Amino acid sequence: MSKAQDDSLTQYTARHAKQLGGAVIDTLLPPQALLGLDADPIARRMWADVTFLDAPWCEACGFPFEYAVQGGALCARCSVKPPSYDRARAAMAYDEGSRALILSFKHGGRTVGLSSFAAQMRRAGRDLLTDADLLVPVPLHPSRLIKRRYNQATLLARALAKITPAQFAPDVLFRTRRTESQGRFNARARADNVRGAFAVRRPDHIKGRKVILIDDVLTTGATLESCARTLKRAGAARVDGLCLARVAKAAALPT
Ligand SMILES: [Zn+2]
Repeated sequence: MSKAQDDSLTQYTARHAKQLGGAVIDTLLPPQALLGLDADPIARRMWADVTFLDAPWCEACGFPFEYAVQGGALCARCSVKPPSYDRARAAMAYDEGSRALILSFKHGGRTVGLSSFAAQMRRAGRDLLTDADLLVPVPLHPSRLIKRRYNQATLLARALAKITPAQFAPDVLFRTRRTESQGRFNARARADNVRGAFAVRRPDHIKGRKVILIDDVLTTGATLESCARTLKRAGAARVDGLCLARVAKAAALPT
């Protein structure tokens, strides 16, 4: 970056931070500055090619737009069929640049970046988090939990609860049955696979509350939709989704 570009970025950042207030200044720093990963060369390499997502995006599903649009614009898909959840946001694109990072967390048990993931989710989900009550991780079926050892969504929700006022609520939603892995399914099959697969264990804890569902990767949104329908039936006042990453282009879906 040239000196002139650097200066103009600094001025922009200072101006923007002033507009937004000091509380969000960490969202304007380069992502690596948040991470404390300098001592970990593997992590640093994994983060280098990540595309971080931010507005402009679809007001409903958070699909990134290439150009700025007037507030509240919806993508083509949400215009035709609004999702069951209110809003979804994701911190980074799930693509070639983030695949290794995500999969090492999802399947490899690598949790060194967890606090950085949470910080990035807080940045992307700032509008959702202003008045949210509960952070509810998308649950795994117990049999899958044994295989994976832990639920990544639970880890993310717990890490996020440490840096936001919303309450970590891992025990209100559960899977009623074991579903097939979504990896080889198309959008319609994914929706069929998870329809009715969730239930609320503690409806008293959900009624009238503003809930954010937490998950690692958003692909077609079928899992979020199914969870959101279940939570709204149980009386949730609002259900948003906040994910670490999302498929932002036609790309190979993660399993
Ligand atoms: Zn959309």
